[in-house]
Amino acid sequence: MGSVDFDQQVRLAAFDRLRELAAATSDGVLSRADPSTGVPRYGDQIVEGRQRYDYRAGGPDRWFNWALAGLAESSTDLIYVVKLRRGEYTAAWPVRVVGNDPSGEFVLIDDSRAETVTSPEVATLGDRLLASEATARYTTAPRAVRLHQQAFRREVLRAYDRSCAMCRLRRPELVEAAHIIPDADERSRPVVTNGLALCVMHHAAFDRDLVGIDPRYQVHVRRDVLDEVDGPMLRHGLQGLAGQTLHLPQQRRDRPDPEFLDARFAQFRDAEPT
Ligand SMILES: [Zn+2]
Repeated sequence: MGSVDFDQQVRLAAFDRLRELAAATSDGVLSRADPSTGVPRYGDQIVEGRQRYDYRAGGPDRWFNWALAGLAESSTDLIYVVKLRRGEYTAAWPVRVVGNDPSGEFVLIDDSRAETVTSPEVATLGDRLLASEATARYTTAPRAVRLHQQAFRREVLRAYDRSCAMCRLRRPELVEAAHIIPDADERSRPVVTNGLALCVMHHAAFDRDLVGIDPRYQVHVRRDVLDEVDGPMLRHGLQGLAGQTLHLPQQRRDRPDPEFLDARFAQFRDAEPT
């Protein structure tokens, strides 16, 4: 609950700051609900009078689109930063995500209540947002993240009784805590249900999508790996896993969340050679 309040406070503070900027800029507030001068629009991005905002390739079921898809079901006021040209941005606020397109390609944004402002500060913000998009998750609160990851590792290893969920190897130096939804994804959470205890070999194979786990805990091996001919490590270590069921934690609540597995399994499927 506390984080929701904090989130809301940050948003309100940002709205206030934008309002100040708008007041200080001669042509600050351009309009209200006026398509000709309001939020910049691009002809092919208007659907039924609403601004279209595209999902990243793969649609709302891919985990990297969950946050955006989730907004379609909330009524959160947002700031929409639009790049006009290099170094020039306009901020529009408040806007809301009002619906998912049935095709799964985009959401629709309602900007009918929005005010807009173009100012150097928005430009700085816009550049920073674009520049930091890829790295923000790693640079925010590194200490908190580190603590989370230590706890994650401890909890996952405990849940799986310190043995690999695929091959049951128990050698402590070789068993690690793996993330189902990768750590780099913003929806990834350091919770046991997003974790798997895996030996170093199976951790690496899982991270590289050589093996996948479906939501019913069955292990799949990538087709080209199955077709390969090699020594005992490949035969027993990888090919032999195909069709096996994961060794699960005894406690039901510690078991992998099928939704996380489902999202991750889609990536495994995409990685399979056609
Ligand atoms: Zn293993």
